[in-house]
Amino acid sequence: MTFITNDCVTNTLELLPGADRPRPCLQKVFDDESGRWVPAHWATCDNPNCRGCVPREAEHGKLCRTCYSKITDALSRVEELIVHFRSIDKTAQAIGERVDTSMTKSIVIPDAWLAADGLMEALGAPPIPSTASIDDTFELARQAVGEWADVDSIIATREGAKRAVVLVKRLQTALKRWPDAEVLYRPIPWFVCEQCRTRGSLWRRSPVEQGDDLLIECGTPDCGWSAEWFGWIETHKQALETFAAEWMRMQKEGGAA
Ligand SMILES: [Zn+2]
Ligand SMILES: [Zn+2]
Ligand SMILES: [Zn+2]
Repeated sequence: MTFITNDCVTNTLELLPGADRPRPCLQKVFDDESGRWVPAHWATCDNPNCRGCVPREAEHGKLCRTCYSKITDALSRVEELIVHFRSIDKTAQAIGERVDTSMTKSIVIPDAWLAADGLMEALGAPPIPSTASIDDTFELARQAVGEWADVDSIIATREGAKRAVVLVKRLQTALKRWPDAEVLYRPIPWFVCEQCRTRGSLWRRSPVEQGDDLLIECGTPDCGWSAEWFGWIETHKQALETFAAEWMRMQKEGGAA
């Protein structure tokens, strides 16, 4: 009997941390009894707890056909999503990060930013500096994805194929946590609109397209007030620091953010 040694790389990734490790890709066979495709077993397998033991064959470099289509899809979306993850976060944390200087150390980098950096890392690029603007971020992400233009030669190596499946895994995890619908508007608690004087009517709006500004907008019908986000932050630095400190205190006490 000849064993297939050209398995999809997902079958040989023991050294990856659990969060990055995809499930091994297995061959499936049609089961007449259940009428379904089920994981295949080696003829010698008599382990009743085995969930499939025949690896799927690599057809594109070190990746099986499914993994190949996943990385192709991921590469078409990851640039946008990195920017997207950079523009979402828990509002108070983002405020704290951007208010910066004196309180930088006490503020946790938003999880979504870490997710963006995780994607950059999987692409083989350095993390995005916390001072990067949205346009900077677009550019850094574009360059990182650009390095994958010849994806076939990257996944021809074991190391490249590994990075590809890690990228896909991180993208899936991040998308599950921050589904697309969540992104565009985030409420800004505490503040009063400077035009219509309504409290709690302000929203932070993520850029929709490259070149768009990150904005703060009032949601009161007929008000229509809006301003550029970072300028607004600068103006309200003092109050924001106070609120961010208060928010941190509430977090520590287990209160709602
Ligand atoms: Zn088995
Ligand atoms: Zn695979
Ligand atoms: Zn208003």
